[in-house]
Amino acid sequence: MQLSEVIARTRQYFTQVTGVAGPIVMSDVNKDVFEKRFRQENIAVESPGVEKWLKNMTYDKKGLIHLFSWSGLIDANMLLSDLFKVPNLNTGQMEPLISALTREEEEMFKNMMRRLHSIFQYAMERDVRVMVDAEQTYFQPAISRLTMEMMKKYNQDKAIVFNTYQCYLKETFNNLSLDLEQAYRQNFYFGAKLVRGAYMEQERARALELEYEDPVNPDFEATTEMYHNCLKECLRRIKFNKSLGETQRIAIMVASHNEDTVRYTVRKMAEFGIHPLDRVICFGQLLGMCDHISLPLGQAGFSVYKYVPYGPVNEVLPYLSRRASENSSILVKLQKEKNLLGKELLRRIMKGQVLYRPQGNYIPVGAVPK
Ligand SMILES: Cc1cc2nc3c(=O)[nH]c(=O)nc-3n(C[C@H](O)[C@H](O)[C@H](O)COP(=O)(O)OP(=O)(O)OC[C@H]3O[C@@H](n4cnc5c(N)ncnc54)[C@H](O)[C@@H]3O)c2cc1C
Repeated sequence: MQLSEVIARTRQYFTQVTGVAGPIVMSDVNKDVFEKRFRQENIAVESPGVEKWLKNMTYDKKGLIHLFSWSGLIDANMLLSDLFKVPNLNTGQMEPLISALTREEEEMFKNMMRRLHSIFQYAMERDVRVMVDAEQTYFQPAISRLTMEMMKKYNQDKAIVFNTYQCYLKETFNNLSLDLEQAYRQNFYFGAKLVRGAYMEQERARALELEYEDPVNPDFEATTEMYHNCLKECLRRIKFNKSLGETQRIAIMVASHNEDTVRYTVRKMAEFGIHPLDRVICFGQLLGMCDHISLPLGQAGFSVYKYVPYGPVNEVLPYLSRRASENSSILVKLQKEKNLLGKELLRRIMKGQVLYRPQGNYIPVGAVPK
């Protein structure tokens, strides 16, 4: 949570110094603007602390990308309290944006980073994709920031690390666009899982209790519109990459049990000239749910993944019961699925294909098709 707080404070600090509101990566501001403002405030720009801070900013010819060198964040040996210091406009001193973490908290953070590196390193060696789930908004900025830095490190040759975007949030289109832009400007492969979002009630209850604006879209239709806009933005960029012969730069999982969303995606892929065999769009459903969506997609040549919840029973059961209650509308459709299964069974008996196993040359999403 403290890391998410740093991200919010970094944006405030950026606006305080430059007077520019809005995302840093789109701001067209370079580091001279900071130097000028510091001089106006009589801050010693040549002092080692400030000079080093200015040198460590991340930028390209279009301007700033980040205020900090966030790659320091994924360096398991860097102390968080050292990383997030900025020149204070009033005192001129380098001061931390977050209150100092205890030694134990710093240690926990380092351990988490070591574990993440082990997972991504192993996944890269085995050529397996890792999807990082999205959680509640009070953790998510930190999860997302860390995931983007991991993408930068591990997605140099293909999309191994995937971030998750929850389309029930009002901010999601902006966040996704900024991350796509970062990947483009810093030249790494981008992986994303698009979901509607699982914590709507919790988000709304917390916003009400702590009296801040509800971060969730006002209704289901607005969430669907957000989903469509996010998907179209990805498809637009994939089409552009394809025109440059770099189709695989972006890989997307459409993680939804909604038939209309799946149909919409298939239709839009055709409109944007993106073929299932380009292996840049895949679909994801939970194991045991919506096989009537997954199976025809697979048979039509699309990549489909079935999510298998795995872990200690006491952790997996609450997860599954959340999914079951979210998907209660699916239970209504159960009769439809049963009818479809009956029809398929009959078809196989009639055609002598009881043990029929469709052959497919499986190619994972984001991999270069041969
Ligand atoms: C493979 C897979 C991976 C997933 N990973 C994640 C993850 O990392 N993080 C996560 O948060 N969720 C995750 N989910 C769950 C997902 O976010 C949805 O909760 C779930 O899939 C239901 O959405 P749907 O599109 O499948 O179905 P639908 O029934 O079409 O959509 C239901 C969803 O619509 C939204 N909604 C409903 N009513 C309203 C309303 N009044 N206002 C605004 N929005 C509304 C909510 O998000 C609700 O969950 C994952 C789901 C799948 C299948």
